[in-house]
Amino acid sequence: MTKIMIVEDEVGLVTLLKYNLEKQGYETVVSMDGKDVMPTALSEKPDLILLDWMLPNIPGIDLCREIRKTYELRNTPIIMLTARSEEADKVKGLSFGADDYVTKPFSVPELMARIIALLRRVMPVQAQENLSYGDIFIDFSKRRVMRGERHVHLGPTEFRLLQFLMEKPGHVLSRESLLKSVWGGSIHVELRTVDVHIRRLRRALNDAGEKDVIRTVRSAGYAIDFSDSETDEIIEDTE
Ligand code: CA
Repeated sequence: MTKIMIVEDEVGLVTLLKYNLEKQGYETVVSMDGKDVMPTALSEKPDLILLDWMLPNIPGIDLCREIRKTYELRNTPIIMLTARSEEADKVKGLSFGADDYVTKPFSVPELMARIIALLRRVMPVQAQENLSYGDIFIDFSKRRVMRGERHVHLGPTEFRLLQFLMEKPGHVLSRESLLKSVWGGSIHVELRTVDVHIRRLRRALNDAGEKDVIRTVRSAGYAIDFSDSETDEIIEDTE
């Protein structure tokens, strides 16, 4: 049974989410205080976490980062719930490791659709051949990425992005096609979201100072490419 952890301090919203998720056949576990989140997540091992931004004691954004740094939880998909609607906050949430972002007030059917889309996105790919290109290796059975001898830590969305890029090395994939492949063509996701996750993927792959192999092609998209062709555009990293 798929277990969803609800991290939210508004009782009314917890009740609403719990009721609707259980009606859809999900098991739920609730945490209403920031300081309970890590112990509960570690003992319950949820399949997805709905994480409120404003929480007592520890803010959701810090928890998001903590979850991504914790070995047992690092692959857990996270949807941030927040009253903040500023674009900058959204990008911040995604860059701290969230996979999706829902602004309050939200409609329950919309949230359900996003949960289903995200769970589908991170489902293990059966009998998948391992992929390697240059010094990058994806081991699907262990859900692990290596760069040379180094273990690359990726969130679920970056893992899927890398998979699609690695399936067609040297080919430029448009942001639209990446959005469709990785996010399932969710109408709620903006093209800019692809850029944010590409930036995270690039940072993780080059973390030990390796050569940047993700090529940004102006108004065309992205490619993974070990050839020495000139990068058409220098991507700006504003964080
Ligand atoms: Ca709150």
